[in-house]
Amino acid sequence: MADPRPAVHLARGREKKIRNGYPWVQREEVFDAVPSLPGQIARLFDCHGDFLALGLFNPNSRFPFRVLSLQDEPIDADFFRRRLDEAARRRVGVRETDSLREFFAEADGIPGLIVDRFDRTLVVQVRNAGMERLREVWEPVLLERFDPVAMYDKSDMEGRREEGLEPHAELRYGTLPEPVLVQESGFVFEAPVVEGLKTGFYLDQRGTRRRLAERIKPGERLLDAFCYTGTFSHYAARAGAEVTAVDISPVAIEAARRNAERNGVHAEFIEANVFDWLEESGPTYDWIVLDPPAIAKGKGERNSLKWAVWKLVFNGLPRLVPGGRMVVCSCSYQLGLGELIETVRLAAADRGRRAFLEEITLQDLDHPTAMAFPESGYLKCAWVRME
Ligand code: SAH
Repeated sequence: MADPRPAVHLARGREKKIRNGYPWVQREEVFDAVPSLPGQIARLFDCHGDFLALGLFNPNSRFPFRVLSLQDEPIDADFFRRRLDEAARRRVGVRETDSLREFFAEADGIPGLIVDRFDRTLVVQVRNAGMERLREVWEPVLLERFDPVAMYDKSDMEGRREEGLEPHAELRYGTLPEPVLVQESGFVFEAPVVEGLKTGFYLDQRGTRRRLAERIKPGERLLDAFCYTGTFSHYAARAGAEVTAVDISPVAIEAARRNAERNGVHAEFIEANVFDWLEESGPTYDWIVLDPPAIAKGKGERNSLKWAVWKLVFNGLPRLVPGGRMVVCSCSYQLGLGELIETVRLAAADRGRRAFLEEITLQDLDHPTAMAFPESGYLKCAWVRME
């Protein structure tokens, strides 16, 4: 009997990156494919007809084929269990928290599936048609593995439309705690899962906020720009700093205020647009954390993100004391480390400040950066002293 799984043939010369572990095939790289439904499991062959990979095929996507495995193996519950086991081993170094990104999509070997665990609440994101079709295989595996009190699907990102999927969010299992809480380094943070951004909480900045707590000194003043639930503010305030935090979202600011109260931390939380707020005159700071959202989603928007970062640093500098530090973050792969550093350098030069790069911090270990898939290394923060 013929194999029911569609076959996709790669154009000549495109097989090497797949063999090296890169998981995405672009439309132009497909030589020939049989018509099939979006999200079906398909087999990928090189131009000689040799098997390359098993993956998710979606003829409507910019990336019609996404690799699940370099072996021809059943994509069943055991497959997902093995991937979760491997993912768990990558996270062994994460400490002092009850909340983790348990699974980070392509970086952990399954395209488009993100699983964040906030204590006993799971928040999942599904980014492609293939993982939607496989839902009845992987959902029970997650329930069995984590025994959660709730599983919430927060797949409300616009990017799903490229896959022919509607953005949507729904409770898939159990009852959501009210509020969902995250314990980290002795703090208790509420994560606005339903109303907030992404999966509700930024686990990825854990290492950078811990580093801030190590470096900031009692009595120093910090501006936490784009504060969301106020995590940087908490670490700085507990270290004895005087903290002002700004975010445009009322949901974020209210959660940040409740978090501060919950943790007995003192900080001023202001609801404002950081771009406008920095242009007004005001007090100066010893530290400014700039953690803007991923404004650039595609290559075409790279310049707009660069421009935004330049503007934030340029307008932030008059508010930074001589010798003060800026922690400038980019959570977009489109603005890479080199370009981020260059943008900060330019803004400092345009203000006539001498800038010294002191360190770089990255997304924490539960957001692994697969070197074969550079796109998985999205978050970097440049720590710069400005004289
Ligand atoms: N630093 C946070 C994460 C920041 S996410 C943490 O570690 O938890 C980006 C934040 O920027 C979001 O909370 C969003 O509401 C906010 N934001 C987006 N545009 C903004 C603007 N123009 N001014 C202020 N905040 C903005």
